[in-house]
Amino acid sequence: MKTVTLGSTGIVSPKNAFGALPIQRVSEEEACRLLRRAYEAGITFFDTANAYTDSEKKIGMALADVRDKIHIATKTGARNVEMFWQNLENSLRMMKTDHIDIYQFHNPAVCPRPGDGTGLYEAALEAKAQGKILHIGITNHRPAVAREAVESGLFETLQFPFCYLATETDLELVRLCRERNVGFIAMKALSGGLLSNAAACYAWLDKFDNVLPIWGVQRESELEEFISFMADPPTMTAEMESLIEKDRGELIGSFCRSCGYCMPCPMGIMIPNCARMSQLIRRSPSAPFLTPMWRENMEKIEQCVGCGQCKKKCPYGLDIPELLKENLADYRRIVSGEVSL
Ligand code: SF4
Ligand code: SF4
Repeated sequence: MKTVTLGSTGIVSPKNAFGALPIQRVSEEEACRLLRRAYEAGITFFDTANAYTDSEKKIGMALADVRDKIHIATKTGARNVEMFWQNLENSLRMMKTDHIDIYQFHNPAVCPRPGDGTGLYEAALEAKAQGKILHIGITNHRPAVAREAVESGLFETLQFPFCYLATETDLELVRLCRERNVGFIAMKALSGGLLSNAAACYAWLDKFDNVLPIWGVQRESELEEFISFMADPPTMTAEMESLIEKDRGELIGSFCRSCGYCMPCPMGIMIPNCARMSQLIRRSPSAPFLTPMWRENMEKIEQCVGCGQCKKKCPYGLDIPELLKENLADYRRIVSGEVSL
């Protein structure tokens, strides 16, 4: 079984970790079944966040009795010290534990630093001194903030989107993390569901021995596939290489990663899926995206008032209103039969 050491934390995990964002969407019973199955199959690293509604509670329900055999990373989006402590105490209570292995600042727009006036980094140091957190990490979608965080020497881990659509800037970040002994946790290793060949995604990531992918798990079939990688890690084949080359040709650049940071839209537009409908509908079975509900969701794009709130929040700098318009035009052509899939 391949393992990854997360930089200076010394945490060693099989090169398959559990991303607990999607378990918000299933029942407590189902979530506990998935978490327990993951643990029993050898997965020992679980990543969640205070913001993922009941995900932490489900981890506590499923894994509290094996707490000393797993590592937990969670996140706080606190913008002030009071919120920091509320978030931390809540996470500890929900997960029925007295410590968090890696406590991450959740996608801050500015890298927290001692003396920056927010008191957030100092609060993290205090929580560490109290033993409530063991390591301080950061997550980010913005390459510049991520780089600054790694170079600052203030964080032991970086969580960043990383998959075979990576740009040269992303690759450089992975190299920098290795040089600085900062653990690299890869989120969105399937690019928010756009990449459907998990074995190819794993085989590509396998080239980076300092990268720990956290796979977002919602279904048993997905989990079983990731579990199978532990005993039998996929290796790169010529077929996978040509798939990767084709996907990079089609997807690299200005595409929506479905991170959701642009939400909510005051007009109720479901930006994360509507802004990448052209890709979703071609890369997955199309029927679920052609239902009356999805037609209505897509037509809502017409109601965009161009307020620009979404654009300001997109870490990838996408021109979202424009992207939505293009996706709607393409969707209408598909619905009318002008374009066949
Ligand atoms: S610009 Fe359009 S899509 Fe973006 S938040 Fe405003 S109304 Fe919503
Ligand atoms: S449009 Fe930007 S902020 Fe919104 S989901 Fe896509 S990548 Fe994220």
